[in-house]
Amino acid sequence: MDSKQIFDMFGDYVLDTYARMPLAIESGRGSICRDFEGRDYVDFTSGIGVNSFGYSDCEWSAAVGAQAAKLQHVSNYYYSEPCAEAAKLLCGLTGMKKVFFCNSGAESNEGAIKAARKYSLMKYGPGRNNIITLKNSFHGRTVTTLAATGQDVFHQYFGPFTDGFVYAQPNDCADLEDKADDTVCAIVLEFIQGEGGVVELAQEFVDTAKKLCARKDILLIGDEVQTGCGRTGKFLCAEHYGASPDIVTMAKGIGGGLPLGAVLFSEKTENILGHGDHATTFGGNPVVCAGACSVLSRMTPEFLHSVTGKGDYLKEKLSDLPMIESVNGRGLMLGAVLRSGDAHDIAEKAVGDGVLILTAKNKLRFLPPLNITKQEIDAGIARLGKTLAKAERDTK
Ligand SMILES: *Cc1c(COP(=O)(O)O)cnc(C)c1O
Repeated sequence: MDSKQIFDMFGDYVLDTYARMPLAIESGRGSICRDFEGRDYVDFTSGIGVNSFGYSDCEWSAAVGAQAAKLQHVSNYYYSEPCAEAAKLLCGLTGMKKVFFCNSGAESNEGAIKAARKYSLMKYGPGRNNIITLKNSFHGRTVTTLAATGQDVFHQYFGPFTDGFVYAQPNDCADLEDKADDTVCAIVLEFIQGEGGVVELAQEFVDTAKKLCARKDILLIGDEVQTGCGRTGKFLCAEHYGASPDIVTMAKGIGGGLPLGAVLFSEKTENILGHGDHATTFGGNPVVCAGACSVLSRMTPEFLHSVTGKGDYLKEKLSDLPMIESVNGRGLMLGAVLRSGDAHDIAEKAVGDGVLILTAKNKLRFLPPLNITKQEIDAGIARLGKTLAKAERDTK
């Protein structure tokens, strides 16, 4: 196979729902991958924050391979060891009490939404089922999580959408207070909005949400699908804010490259969902959970500290590149504002120079593997520097 043949087969057989970059990836190790012609690329994307330890990390692939050879799936009518271990590790890292495993971020948010509504119904009766989410948020692609997503572009074509979502302006405390009325059972926050363009919530805004939740028995739900699992230099981004959500949703990075979502419940919320209330066939799959154990068991304070250090280093290097106006974000979740030009166009040209980057709105977005080395950062920066220098010349 060569890249051209693969592009053609996609054209013939794969539904065209993604604006793909012109790159077919053949293999990878750590933060470097190769195409079918043997060219190498520095990867600042980790599959949108999924490959926490990069491509085919040795420890992770050994754990996954061994589990696949031993026991690949059991239904949730039975017990399995990797599922128990992964849940224990997640609780140990977060102080949460119970975990429900599913397969994606959207699905974990669905679980959190169901739990919040049941909590309120059982305690207060009907009429208190609204959920506040933020404008410019992103919570997933199911009909309900599209409704939860506070961006009008996502509210087309597929109606009727699920009722009961109210959108507050991020970092506008007065608006949040205004919307948190007696019909509200939960507030959902991405502490750093990812798809919305790497937009950080202000401490004061999170404090206001915490106060409202405490005063009115509203559940605080942290959507840590993108920010969780060490991405920002803490295991959960909530920790930066001194926030302890009642429910945390995770996905992307926890499986290290296999599909895994998790809904984490605190002492207050651990008893809401019982037998028959919620389920999913693949949830807690042994192979996926074995991969998660490999990822989670390495989230030590020293490792998280190294993520912060590398994030600071990458931020500094990015700030010095041509065309870059400013860089924001935390740890290895960074966004760069361009002086001019189109972010998607730059990302596509960067592929030609051997470096993979993401975009979010009109920012360049960086979510490299958490174990990326300084040398790999330097190599990626040098390549991106070429792309940006060319783009700068073109503007003159
Ligand atoms: C990616 C993402 C989701 C959706 O996750 P999927 O696995 O694509 O369903 C939800 N919330 C946030 C914050 C995300 O970044």
